[in-house]
Amino acid sequence: MRGHGWRERLLLHHYEVDKKYGTSYQKNFLEWFKRIQREDLYTCAGITDPKGDRSKRPLEQSDPDLFLRVVERRPDGVVVNGAKMHLTSCVNAHEIFTMPTMSLRPGEEDYAISFAVPMNTPGITMIIGRNSSDLRKLYGTPMDVGNAKCGGIEAVCVFDHVFVPNERIFLNGEVEFAGPLVDRFASYHRNSYGGCKAGVGDVLIGAASLFAQFNGVEKAAHIKDKLVEMTHMNETLYSGGIASSCEGYQTAAGNYIVDPMLANCCKLNVTRYPYEMCHLAEEIAGGLMVTAPSGADFDNPETGPYLRKLLVGANGVSAEDKLRALRLLETMCIGTGAVGFRTESMHGAGSPAAQKLNISRYANFNGKKDMAKHLANIK
Ligand SMILES: Cc1cc2nc3c(=O)[nH]c(=O)nc-3n(C[C@H](O)[C@H](O)[C@H](O)COP(=O)(O)OP(=O)(O)OC[C@H]3O[C@@H](n4cnc5c(N)ncnc54)[C@H](O)[C@@H]3O)c2cc1C
Repeated sequence: MRGHGWRERLLLHHYEVDKKYGTSYQKNFLEWFKRIQREDLYTCAGITDPKGDRSKRPLEQSDPDLFLRVVERRPDGVVVNGAKMHLTSCVNAHEIFTMPTMSLRPGEEDYAISFAVPMNTPGITMIIGRNSSDLRKLYGTPMDVGNAKCGGIEAVCVFDHVFVPNERIFLNGEVEFAGPLVDRFASYHRNSYGGCKAGVGDVLIGAASLFAQFNGVEKAAHIKDKLVEMTHMNETLYSGGIASSCEGYQTAAGNYIVDPMLANCCKLNVTRYPYEMCHLAEEIAGGLMVTAPSGADFDNPETGPYLRKLLVGANGVSAEDKLRALRLLETMCIGTGAVGFRTESMHGAGSPAAQKLNISRYANFNGKKDMAKHLANIK
């Protein structure tokens, strides 16, 4: 009842796409994928192009390399130029997997390219991004780092005449497959955010709750209410991820695909709730989250004793532990890149407008109007 036929139409669409997709590409991809699993390799995802003027198609840009493209076709492979942007952990990756960032039209064949190559392939340069306060990691004061166990880094990955051998190519000129590829990838990515961001949310709730305890306010009704609000939003993110997986279905090729409507709704919630959760966490944290002295001040024999005496927490909690909890909150609420909880939630897997576009595609407003008309007795 709820799908009103769009699910069936989508299945048929997937079937038509799968039937046309070249078997040599499928073989290339499966061979590559099996090796990645067998050798336990880590692959980064290179989807986002620099894109220049967002109102223009790839061929209309001031520089043709603003979208990754094929510049030479050889009997044994292709040569590509351009870049992929914001690549999470590409500096730690064994290989990069690339695909177009959007659907393509006839005439844009050189941009319809998908492949995987090792990160040390000649012609690849990684230029890593800056996170706010990243130099704190180099000052030798671990108390100021926030997340003492792990971090994250994004990079611009430049392709300057990179040769890709035939067996590593998964798409080469077939513009009609770019759109379905982007759709399927985006649906999976938006589904996965229901798990990934809910996990980050658990840590944020934990840090806020811990700090409330350190501050002696954990039993206050409004603090409990904020923690419950945060938990409700976080579990809603998680539900969207679980629901889009459970409602997934089998394609003609035998593999499963997540429910795209629920995956897009999941990600749209992710562009909103983390901001509200950070808002509540900051309210619980108080001003010291952004005005706290550094670990070096604790180490300084002149200032350290003052700080240990004056910034002490409730029930014997040390000033140092209070600051450690606050730095973690600071990193998550206003830190940038993958260590933060906000901008990555907004733009990772596509900006909100992209999710709304998909939701409007699957919403079937006419079907809903029919139901309303039926109940209201409107002919
Ligand atoms: C921390 C982080 C990690 C990331 N990791 C990865 C990764 O590992 N791999 C990867 O490939 N990408 C990654 N991304 C990139 C992410 O997918 C993009 O940020 C996202 O797709 C948005 O693209 P953009 O940043 O170029 O913003 P833009 O596309 O420039 O969007 C900015 C605004 O402009 C609007 N807009 C854009 N184009 C148009 C248009 N034609 N008409 C009207 N409005 C438009 C958007 O809706 C949005 O509101 C990451 C991003 C972040 C922040």
